[in-house]
Amino acid sequence: MDKESGRKVARALTIAGSDSGGGAGIQADLKTFQELGVYGMSAITAVTAQNTLGVQAVYPLSSEAVAQQIRAIGSDIGADAVKTGMLFSSEIILAVAGVIQELGWTKVVVDPVMIAKGGSVLLQEEAIRALTGTLLPLTAVVTPNIPEAEKLTGMDILGRTDKEEAARRLAGFGAQHVIIKGGHDSGTEAVDLLFDGRYFTELASKRIATGHTHGTGCTFSAALAAGLAQGLDIESSMQQAKAFIQAAIEDGIHIGGGRGPTNHWA
Ligand code: PLP
Repeated sequence: MDKESGRKVARALTIAGSDSGGGAGIQADLKTFQELGVYGMSAITAVTAQNTLGVQAVYPLSSEAVAQQIRAIGSDIGADAVKTGMLFSSEIILAVAGVIQELGWTKVVVDPVMIAKGGSVLLQEEAIRALTGTLLPLTAVVTPNIPEAEKLTGMDILGRTDKEEAARRLAGFGAQHVIIKGGHDSGTEAVDLLFDGRYFTELASKRIATGHTHGTGCTFSAALAAGLAQGLDIESSMQQAKAFIQAAIEDGIHIGGGRGPTNHWA
């Protein structure tokens, strides 16, 4: 085998749940990596039976099965950046944090997925402490939406000052950067707030009226990880990810009888 031929490419790994409907989770992440020119890999944490109408069932994998998938990648291919999505249980979170530490990965994006838009539980309540205690200290960027930031910090976020305080608390858990996404803001704009431990930066975009928003969070964090894998800094990755998700929402897909997914074509 000629190991020198073939081209080099940035590599990104998603550690997340499978969405059989193809709009969120592992499937959204891999499509996003592909569109952004990054080689995508996956470690599946749970299989969901899901379509545009919602999540019908969740089948978590054992923490050992999750750890083995990540080790298989780490011991051979490697990853330039990693993102986590649905982690489901504290056992899986502990295993994921352990292997990330073992492999010394630092470009780690954590999307603290908790509840699907239809209400299904994607992270057990008692796993929140494992997330803040063991995974956030290993995190380059954590990307909660407002309800997730409220759950992680125990705060009510009503305005800009609360958003800043929540970002400070999340950084206090050890995350190097925090992006509180503004998709749940009221008003005509969605304002994402980036905190780097010292300074705040806002990125605003106009709110798009659409029902096809399934998988937005997954897609945004995957695009962010793709940028980091390609060597962009956090702010440039965030701008790339914001542009990607904005276009994806504007071009939402009408399939199935329920809430369609965002588009994943760049
Ligand atoms: N299913 C899986 C496997 C996910 O990872 C996610 C991501 O958050 C969702 C469903 C939720 O999708 P949404 O809330 O965007 O409909």
